[in-house]
Amino acid sequence: MVGGGNWYTGENYDPDPNLKIWLDGKIIPVQEARISVFDHGLLYGDGVFEGIRSYNGRVFERDAHLRRLFHSAKAIQLEIPFTYDEVDRSLDQTLEANGLLHPERDAYIRLVVTRGVGVLGISPRRTWKPKMYVITATIQMYAPEMYEKGMPVIVSSFTRNHNNAMPPRIKSLNYLNNILAKMEAHDANVGEAIMLNHLGHVAEATGDNLFIVRDGQLQTPPTSAGILEGITRATVIRLAREAGIEAVEKDLVRMDLYAADECFLTGTGAQIVPVTSIDRRPVGRGTVGPVAKFMMQAYEQLVRSAPKKEEVPTERGLRAQPA
Ligand code: PMP
Repeated sequence: MVGGGNWYTGENYDPDPNLKIWLDGKIIPVQEARISVFDHGLLYGDGVFEGIRSYNGRVFERDAHLRRLFHSAKAIQLEIPFTYDEVDRSLDQTLEANGLLHPERDAYIRLVVTRGVGVLGISPRRTWKPKMYVITATIQMYAPEMYEKGMPVIVSSFTRNHNNAMPPRIKSLNYLNNILAKMEAHDANVGEAIMLNHLGHVAEATGDNLFIVRDGQLQTPPTSAGILEGITRATVIRLAREAGIEAVEKDLVRMDLYAADECFLTGTGAQIVPVTSIDRRPVGRGTVGPVAKFMMQAYEQLVRSAPKKEEVPTERGLRAQPA
């Protein structure tokens, strides 16, 4: 089964009937968690979201995710109908309601804010109150063997959204650009597609940021290349520098991918996944390289370690600087 194929098919997609959802401030059973067919999040992809993980019952990079959520919302002039602190608490409330605020449990958290119900027609002026909900679940983005053996990927023929068209830094509910590329990966029977921007510069994969290693240096595209400003990406850059590995943001082109010694993708859902072939060309020796291996270990260690005092959210971010 090259590239993962249909490894997910056959699983039950029905949510656990005992699942509790946080919807507009209330914890309710999943069967009662409903969104209107007139919600502009559904009609037009008008809304924003976050994908967050908790490890051992602790939300990882909580403040970074919340800040990005508020920045995404600000960019589309969507006023989240809850304060930063309320959104912050919603994470723990949802985890708790599902028995996941527990030192032995991990979870994936999906936080969604939609424009809310409105009349037909795209104008957000004719919508009412935004809706917010939080789901706790598990997520397995790639087949487990990809983390050991590495993943084959392709370069997509779909251009990454232009920064001035649909800025990729907004984590919006409109993921069709990424989905088109993802389908191309499926068609090629590989796990992911790397998207280039309108200049031919490497942007990112469909749900992950990208790193390559060249002569011992870690290189990743800058945000101007048209990427989501990934929180895992920032963590990897920090961990690399702490370990004395040089890490730079740099415009990369397709040939840089083909000439890389190593390549890996990073994301909250994926965590760190090594890439061992690109467009059927082996990356380096076609095996998982030492830098990728090191980063995977360092990341795992970090997410499972108790946060240092300065990492505990305090009066930083939006709480200190009203939006
Ligand atoms: N790029 C895209 C397009 C994404 O959707 C994501 C998140 N799934 C990422 C990159 C990685 O971002 P993060 O590390 O913050 O999850």
